[in-house]
Amino acid sequence: MDEIKKIIEKGDIVALTGAGISAESGIPTFRGKEGLWANYNPSVYANIPGLMGVFLFRPSRLKQFLLDIFETTVKARPNRAHYKLAELEEDGLLNSIITQNIDNLHQEAGSENVIELHGNIFRFRCRSCDKTSFMHKSEQKEFIEKIKRTSRTELINLILPRCECGGRYRPDVVLFGESLPEGELRKAYRKAEKANTLLMIGTSGVVYPAASLPFNASRQNINIIEINKEPTSLSHLADFTIRDKASTGMEEV
Ligand code: NAD
Ligand code: ZN
Repeated sequence: MDEIKKIIEKGDIVALTGAGISAESGIPTFRGKEGLWANYNPSVYANIPGLMGVFLFRPSRLKQFLLDIFETTVKARPNRAHYKLAELEEDGLLNSIITQNIDNLHQEAGSENVIELHGNIFRFRCRSCDKTSFMHKSEQKEFIEKIKRTSRTELINLILPRCECGGRYRPDVVLFGESLPEGELRKAYRKAEKANTLLMIGTSGVVYPAASLPFNASRQNINIIEINKEPTSLSHLADFTIRDKASTGMEEV
């Protein structure tokens, strides 16, 4: 622990977070037994053609899918791990957070430098002009009520609303087969390269290109700390391992 303390005190920490950091906030992990994909086949529900098919042939199932996602994420609140990362940033020790999560919980905990590799469920982006619009806390509950009430034809206007340019917005999340936002990815590589320490929390390390960041860090002899309940495919890269829940692990750090 003394050694971890020394590393942390040197600052220039970059955190890489995955679904595990939000598990204690009530959002099931991707591969967990309670995860969304245990009920919905990702090859259908995690890509646009699949979702269009569900809309056409089973609209009530699409409604349930949207409700399952939004009810979980709207209810979720940051936990100690999110808050501790925000504190490290405020203390000038943490440079940025690179997250694979789409739940907005780092920002809600007060973190400012958050690089979102897979987008944000509360942000919508126009597919034609790239303009974005953020759904604030006050609008989120109403959005859920609207999903419940809406007719099949209105459902499309609700999740893919019209932009003033004539195009349509869509939820700004990266679906299967889509490429990651280039700017965010570039920023992530740049930040990770310059870090003194990479702090990996709750990521299984099987989703690329995010998982390549620790491999690069390891080649550059950057200190790597892993906080995870279970061993992962990145564990062998870690100089220090805290085999615990994200909240308790971050308290220790
Ligand atoms: P993953 O589901 O593949 O792995 C989660 C990891 O977290 C596992 O290694 C598990 O051992 C660990 N874990 C579970 N509970 C934990 C806890 N309480 N404390 C510490 N560790 C814990 O997650 P991933 O690597 O992030 O990849 C999943 C993909 O799915 C990501 O690309 C992400 O975009 C998406 N996703 C996001 C959310 C979210 O926004 N909260 C939730 C589910 C999935
Ligand atoms: Zn537009």
